[in-house]
Amino acid sequence: MTKEEMQNNSKTPKEAEEYRQQVVIPLLQHRGPICEPLVDVEDNLLIGQKIGECDSDYAAQVHSSISGHIIAIEERPHPSCVKKPSIIIESNGTNGSINFKTCTNPSKEYIFDTLQDSGIVELDGYPVFNTLTSKKIIDTVLVNLTYPSDANSNCTSDNIPKIIEGMKLLMKASDAEGVFIVNKTDGQLSSSIRSSLNGDNIKIINTKRNYIPLMNNLLAHDMTGIRISNRDTPADAGVMISSAYGALAVSKAVLEGIPPIEVNVTVSGAVKNPMINTVSIGTSFKDAIQSSGGYLGEPGKIIMNGILSGTAQATDEVPVIKSTTEITVQSIDEVVRDKPGPCIHCGRCVDVCPVNILPGRIASFSDIGRYDECSKLHVHSCVDCGLCDYVCPSSRHILQLIRFARTALIRLFNIPEEKESPNLKLGCESCETPCDIGTTSVTQGGTK
Ligand code: SF4
Ligand code: SF4
Repeated sequence: MTKEEMQNNSKTPKEAEEYRQQVVIPLLQHRGPICEPLVDVEDNLLIGQKIGECDSDYAAQVHSSISGHIIAIEERPHPSCVKKPSIIIESNGTNGSINFKTCTNPSKEYIFDTLQDSGIVELDGYPVFNTLTSKKIIDTVLVNLTYPSDANSNCTSDNIPKIIEGMKLLMKASDAEGVFIVNKTDGQLSSSIRSSLNGDNIKIINTKRNYIPLMNNLLAHDMTGIRISNRDTPADAGVMISSAYGALAVSKAVLEGIPPIEVNVTVSGAVKNPMINTVSIGTSFKDAIQSSGGYLGEPGKIIMNGILSGTAQATDEVPVIKSTTEITVQSIDEVVRDKPGPCIHCGRCVDVCPVNILPGRIASFSDIGRYDECSKLHVHSCVDCGLCDYVCPSSRHILQLIRFARTALIRLFNIPEEKESPNLKLGCESCETPCDIGTTSVTQGGTK
């Protein structure tokens, strides 16, 4: 089904209301510490009311997405596959909301205050406010429209003017003199965006690559030439990366006063009526799928945010969170259950790897528990794009083995991230000398 057909099928939150009698809002939807609940069981809530906050710089406040009362505050399944403390709200059937404060010409201070209060996070989990207030001055803003999940769900004709407004607000809040939209060469977005620009200081850069959120350092490097180490973020080098979702959320929060309480989600795959839905945060995947007509046949796997690099879910009870852009259902017959064969050393995984490491070799070492070798081969440089898995003719579970090795190195053996591969163009500047694991500090690149 095409994007246009899915858009035509879309339901507004009101139409989908019958499926959201209850929402489960996790107190952790960002990278950083878990928010403290500001409410108690039995409290009545309005749409947009703040229900959780945290003092840390890396915190992102959470808000109620429906009006109703709290029936529990407890640990519930989360898309990260680990249970997280959550606030469970039962709808009272009304759309009572707080008074959303609109603003037409916000000052820089107003934008900062609103972003801090609204708890907007980017798709990689970093709070937008934190990026803007990082140690470095943000002099470049890149808006990444190459991530298919995000572009499909959020770059609709209705949203594009709002996304552009969001870009302008980010430019105003930072010290950037212009915004660069990174768009797929073969994408159709360029013309619709270009026609909405009206001479604003926003430029479009076309690229052939899809950049998923975990490839932000690579994206920053490819667009600006600035080298960023694994342990740093683009913000540490003065680059802010926003998604279509992020720019849209900024525009809604600052201009309309609405914090992130709903997201646009593409529900696709083995469902009766694939569509792009506006879904209240906290709605279960099960309800989101139900509002798309329900499962088509017996479900085999549910994946959040794309089949290449998304996360398979343990249950359809997990809630939609701020960074959910896509729910894909695979039927029981579609789930790939190929028995992996031996590596035939074809080198395809090496050819496609965007960070120039040796995926097949790392997977082999991970398979036999030689995590030390994985570390030497720069397993931490992997950005989880999933391309190696996709092209492997032997159906090896390369990414799974890489993820396992990475987690084992950090959690089990407490071996910190190694320096980047010397092959990496985006790596630190002193890679020519041999490095000792965990003892060398990574210097941040800064050359343009
Ligand atoms: S998932 Fe595979 S191809 Fe992608 S960065 Fe990691 S090792 Fe390279
Ligand atoms: S693509 Fe698969 S078979 Fe080919 S080298 Fe990589 S791991 Fe081996």
